[in-house]
Order: sequence, then C-alpha cells, then structure tokens
Amino acid sequence: MHLDGNAIAGVLVEALGTELTDAPRACQSCGAVNAVGAHLLYQGAGYVLRCPVCGDVALRIVSLSEQHVLTFAGRWRIETPR
Ligand SMILES: [Zn+2]
Repeated sequence: MHLDGNAIAGVLVEALGTELTDAPRACQSCGAVNAVGAHLLYQGAGYVLRCPVCGDVALRIVSLSEQHVLTFAGRWRIETPR
C-alpha cells in the first residue's frame, strides 16, 4: 500500500528546509520525468519514494533521533529561494 508522493512534503521541508513536491525528477531506470509529488510513497521503518512508472527507488529517508538521512536516486532538479 502506498501514499501519494505529496504526503512526504512535511518531511522534506523539515530535512531540507524547502518544498520539493513540484520538483522534477528523472528516473535512472525508465527515464520518465515526474514531479516528486507524483511519485509513490511507501512508509515502513523509513520512507521510500518510488517512480510512478517503473517503481524503482527515487529516494530513501531514514529519520534518526538527531538527523534525517536522505539517499537520492535518479536526476533531481531542486530550486531553492536565495
Ligand atoms: Zn522509472
């Protein structure tokens, strides 16, 4: 069972300080480009964001007591305010 990728918005803001759900990501496996919010979110011990086309992993987030650990896959384009 998965959630809409928009459900990870709050965790990304907490970890990176910026809203990313509109950011485009190109999949390393199928090449599809989709907004982060259009990806599929699976939640267990951490969060796993998956490509909505092929299901390959786009992002893993593990939240520890002192830090968030983010592992990105594919090409992300992140624009942040100056
Ligand atoms: Zn893909």
